[in-house]
Amino acid sequence: MVKLVEALEKLSCACGVVGREHEVRELLVKMLKPVVDEVRVDRLGNVIGVKKGKKNAPKVMLAAHMDEIGLMVKSVTKDGFLQFAKLGGIDDRILVAQRVFVHGSKGKLAGVVGSKPPHIMKDEEKKKVVEYDSLFIDIGAKSKDDVAKLGVRVGDVVSFDVRFVRLGKDLVLGKALDDRVGCVLLVEVMRLLEGVDCTVYAVGTVQEEVGLRGATVSAFGIAPDVALALDVTVAGDVPGVKEFEAPGKMGKGPVIGVMDSGLITHPKVLGLLVDAAEKAKIPYQLETGLAGSTDAARIALTREGVPCGVLSVATRYIHSPSSVLSLKDVEATVKLAVAAIKQTPKNI
Ligand SMILES: [Zn+2]
Repeated sequence: MVKLVEALEKLSCACGVVGREHEVRELLVKMLKPVVDEVRVDRLGNVIGVKKGKKNAPKVMLAAHMDEIGLMVKSVTKDGFLQFAKLGGIDDRILVAQRVFVHGSKGKLAGVVGSKPPHIMKDEEKKKVVEYDSLFIDIGAKSKDDVAKLGVRVGDVVSFDVRFVRLGKDLVLGKALDDRVGCVLLVEVMRLLEGVDCTVYAVGTVQEEVGLRGATVSAFGIAPDVALALDVTVAGDVPGVKEFEAPGKMGKGPVIGVMDSGLITHPKVLGLLVDAAEKAKIPYQLETGLAGSTDAARIALTREGVPCGVLSVATRYIHSPSSVLSLKDVEATVKLAVAAIKQTPKNI
């Protein structure tokens, strides 16, 4: 448990803005090495850890994405402010006044997302959401030249500066828990898997947030017989959310996805997950009809098709800089994934 939190903290604090996942990749390779037979990195940057099983037994692929939403420097003003593009689904409303790190060639620089002060906004302006293209990042530079001297240029990525903390006994708050918790799940599942017939692939994917790109190529290479995406989902247990809108709750066990906008979970996989949860007496939640999707959507359409499912940890405030999840849920999700892999039939 202590180790699990430590691993989550390390992964959460690392920068893995879409397309620049190297810090997370290095950590994940290190964490997977002692618990798998072999680790490799493919040409797009996906990490693939393999635990070898018996000959002719099914190949199981587990996928968790290493990338996180973030920003990218788009232009530099003559006064040394950075204008930016968004990477992944970011709501403009959460950007104003965020502390950030700009990852330039001379290391990471602290900054803040600035905007026109409300004091000089017209009443009409105050009512509107400030859109990202009228915001800028202030790194304390005085000019375009100054920015260049600091090692920052167009195309550099920007991550949010968020401290990882415990909330009470069971919760943690941190950056990019979507999907660093999935990376922790990969490591924990591989650590606990012993004596299984299947060959299991733990894949840390790149560029999920911009279109499931890493999953596409890694699944093609592996050609799995069955696959599970390990990710987060919306926790519908905060004020203002109706039961119907988001059924998953934090602390109530792993969420088994039935359908989202990119995947209808294969009935065999759904049956396997529900069955495994019931046999092992692991509380679980079913979820259907949420917008968005996971790596499983793309893996399912690989080659001649792959039966896929999704196991998620219900997480509050996803796609914002700070999200919150329950460690109890993480442990239960590990247990369920391990139980399901152990029960995977030969002919799935
Ligand atoms: Zn995710």
